[in-house]
Amino acid sequence: MAPLIPRLSTAETPHGANELMNHRFQCRCGTLSGHLSQPQRALRGVCYCKDCRAYAHHLGVETWTHDALGGAEFVAAQAQNVSFTSGIECLACLSLTDNGLLRWYANCCNTPICNTVRNWKVPYVGLIGACLKTDPFAFERSFPRVQMRVNTSSAMQAPPPMRLSTVVSLAGFMPRVMLSSINGAYRQTPFFDQGGGAPLVPVKVLSDTDRARAYGAT
Ligand SMILES: [Zn+2]
Ligand SMILES: [Zn+2]
Repeated sequence: MAPLIPRLSTAETPHGANELMNHRFQCRCGTLSGHLSQPQRALRGVCYCKDCRAYAHHLGVETWTHDALGGAEFVAAQAQNVSFTSGIECLACLSLTDNGLLRWYANCCNTPICNTVRNWKVPYVGLIGACLKTDPFAFERSFPRVQMRVNTSSAMQAPPPMRLSTVVSLAGFMPRVMLSSINGAYRQTPFFDQGGGAPLVPVKVLSDTDRARAYGAT
């Protein structure tokens, strides 16, 4: 006798349910792609720092990542919510200095994908906004408003002022990152080795010459 209550198999999940929960990102050529789950828990921000501009210049993508004020949109999330679905072999990593952020990019087309800190127990990931905007309408749906502007003192012109909502947004986000550090959720990461927490690809640190050239262009 057939069960009275039909069970939904994965194949029968209503179409589109997944799209609501995940937000897709990809490199410019589309070889490397992935998604961010729980986008409603992420924070949308703009960073105006010189380091991000130097990095973008190094990859030759500053007009793609940055606006006229020298700001680049990013989405702050946790590593456990980031997954790669294709082109992982193109994932490369560089850093501007020996101790700088790890800047992950797709080497198929030199697209910056995201930044992480070096310590995998702080599972913060700053995804580059432009990678999340393949569908601009989906981007606005997933991340409806800019919640923070950081390093505004390095902007090329004065950006819009920060609002109190920035503080409120961070007040919800940071405790979740700290909790992941404590409860071991940081181990769910596509960026670091499960054994010792080393980056999964070699980290290339810019040479003095390349660094000077990159900062000189900002
Ligand atoms: Zn690519
Ligand atoms: Zn920055």
